[in-house]
Amino acid sequence: MNFFKKLFRKEKPIVQYKKAKTKLILIGLDAATLTFIQPLLDEGKLLTLKKFCQDGCCGILKSENPAISPIVWTTIYTGKKRDKHNIFGFYSNKSELKARRVWEVLHHLGLSIGTIGAFFTAPPETIYNFMIPNIWVKVNDLTDPPEFNFAQHWFHYKPREFKKLKKFGLTNNTISYLKKVKRKFPHIGRKATSPEIHFGNLYLKTDVFIHLLRKLHTDFGVIAYYGADAFQHIFMHHYKPEWFTNLDFKVRNKLKNLIPEYYIEFDKQLARIMEANSENTNYIIVSDHGSQPCPPELQKTFRISEIGMIKALKLDGIAKPTYAHGFITIELPGELIDATFNKIKSIRLIENNLELFTVLRKFDNRLEIQHNPNIMRSKEMHNMHFQVYDSKILLNDLLISNQRFGMHHLNGFYAGYGPAFKPQQNRATLSILDIVPLILSILNVPIGIDMDGRIPVELLNENFINTAKSKQPYETIIQSEKNIDERDMDKIKKQLKDLGYIG
Ligand SMILES: [Zn+2]
Repeated sequence: MNFFKKLFRKEKPIVQYKKAKTKLILIGLDAATLTFIQPLLDEGKLLTLKKFCQDGCCGILKSENPAISPIVWTTIYTGKKRDKHNIFGFYSNKSELKARRVWEVLHHLGLSIGTIGAFFTAPPETIYNFMIPNIWVKVNDLTDPPEFNFAQHWFHYKPREFKKLKKFGLTNNTISYLKKVKRKFPHIGRKATSPEIHFGNLYLKTDVFIHLLRKLHTDFGVIAYYGADAFQHIFMHHYKPEWFTNLDFKVRNKLKNLIPEYYIEFDKQLARIMEANSENTNYIIVSDHGSQPCPPELQKTFRISEIGMIKALKLDGIAKPTYAHGFITIELPGELIDATFNKIKSIRLIENNLELFTVLRKFDNRLEIQHNPNIMRSKEMHNMHFQVYDSKILLNDLLISNQRFGMHHLNGFYAGYGPAFKPQQNRATLSILDIVPLILSILNVPIGIDMDGRIPVELLNENFINTAKSKQPYETIIQSEKNIDERDMDKIKKQLKDLGYIG
């Protein structure tokens, strides 16, 4: 008996994973642009994306102004403009969302959901298959399931600790990469702008995503990666020195090929995701905006800290500031808008009577302000003062360094592949508003009646075109997500800064 038992055990095949039967996977690649992708496609370095462009579709995805990641990602996920979804910057949080994200709609209709790295998913909801928040904008390390929280802080692990993550789907390749990184840079967690953090995230997230999709049958999966954006902001001059003739610097070998390498590694991870899923799975890749070189006047060295300004205005805890593209956006309760507007408008440098902010825009719930460009051109002025209420403030105390070589561009990127997509002769240009309609059409779910985009029917095979509209907005039928962030502005700000996202 024992003998047969042993024999039986011996001949039992090694457990092999079946392919996941995900219906649709949305893959986010922050700042992806054809400017960098096309030459790599032409050189034959992006074989997976080439398959998308040849047998499915790819092209320009037009973003919306201002192309600030949390705002435009939320537009991608809701199919609505920012005034409808109500997310205005990095310091917004889930409780302020006024529109449902596509996964909320699909979950309401009975589909199973898993997301990794999407904006405003922290703290995670527990009603989905899995939800691992965006590592960049979070106040704690919670994930669902909770044992996947290593995804949020792996860079604090010791090299020998990685092998225990194998049971959560990490591959030997990933484990040896993470180990190597930690051996070489033991304190990498402290300086998270390091390229290795972004490559580590790329590999680790993909492993976890594949593992969870196979383990828990998921109809709709979302995964988002952010390395391409960080690299274009910080290292574009090393990749394309010929675009930066105003700069006198030495191209560093280590940094020269980061941008193409990231796209090439992304392409390989994409192939792994496809390999893990059945041939009935549909894929949509999107970026929230594109990328372009900063003109010399925008490669600024200093700017006024938005947090410092809020403190100077004695609005900390009340106002939420965001900085992007030369503007500080200050979100405020409506009743404070006028008074704050007038206060900011009145601020002048004491020594030379120069206005501190020369552009001020007023909205119902926010102000957008831009500092006087002359201030940054003159080092002398950094030592001048201004007065707010009864405090005299040294301008230099509010200045932070902000060197950027790449900046956002409205031309982002999309690609689609799978049974829903038909091969395209020409590349259609889509809007970030069209992505939710596209997803809903493929999944045979009515488009929200108040959504701002359209179904790009030209990309789809007939049986995936479903033009029905919901009778009422999904917001009136579906409750908003429950887990609300605790706001911790300084902590979020520090994270964003460490990661090189903001100056
Ligand atoms: Zn960016």
